Amino acid sequence: MLSISDNLKTRYSINLDHGSCRPTKRCKQCCYGKYVSAKEAEACGIRTNAGPVTWPAAQNAYQRNRLWLEQASESELRAAAKKIAKRLRRAGLDNIRVCGMGDATPGLVRLCHHLVGEGIHPWGFSKKPEMIARMPKSSSMIGSVDDSMPESRVLRLMTATKKLLGTPTLAYMTMLAGKAGAQEVKSLWFLRHLVVVFGYHASGFKTVVSHPLACAATNGEDLHCQDCKRCITPRSC
Ligand code: SF4
Repeated sequence: MLSISDNLKTRYSINLDHGSCRPTKRCKQCCYGKYVSAKEAEACGIRTNAGPVTWPAAQNAYQRNRLWLEQASESELRAAAKKIAKRLRRAGLDNIRVCGMGDATPGLVRLCHHLVGEGIHPWGFSKKPEMIARMPKSSSMIGSVDDSMPESRVLRLMTATKKLLGTPTLAYMTMLAGKAGAQEVKSLWFLRHLVVVFGYHASGFKTVVSHPLACAATNGEDLHCQDCKRCITPRSC
């Protein structure tokens, strides 16, 4: 059965393990779901990362989620969607984050179709164009891009998000802080398709990016996705 995660910033989330990912070079280095020791951080010029999402118990639960979703029948997925919808409604919510950790898989996409059938709006970020293209119409999945992603893959994410959301819709992760981060964002050839920018963040560390598209919550401000909604309904804000 599925484990649903909950956190203050996004609220409920369905997380999957690294087995669901198709990582870029940056992902392999800086994923916030990857444990980074002080020694590795120093050797690679990155930050230590040891937050709860990296803990074995969490990663095991995310792996169980992925495996369950891949083998579940349609009736099991429908029953899971009903149960999730009931829990969300009790909490006053009509949406759920998907891939808070991990990426979309065929099983997760099938669950999203059932969630939409229950009146729930799934939303999240993905680096897999073919999964974005299969998401249900009343959902949102933003293409997740970084500086190590080949242009051809960015283009495929643009095509997939255009199919889902009507126009190419991307999120960018920058390693640069402050004005340097803002300059980098301004120079991106796909700038007009960005709806949000995230600074590199690890447990206990945030890169503050001085660009209007930067996520205020990731910059450290006291803001929650359920109030902001920019990534929940990216083309209606
Ligand atoms: S921009 Fe808003 S909706 Fe998107 S991650 Fe940040 S707080 Fe959440």
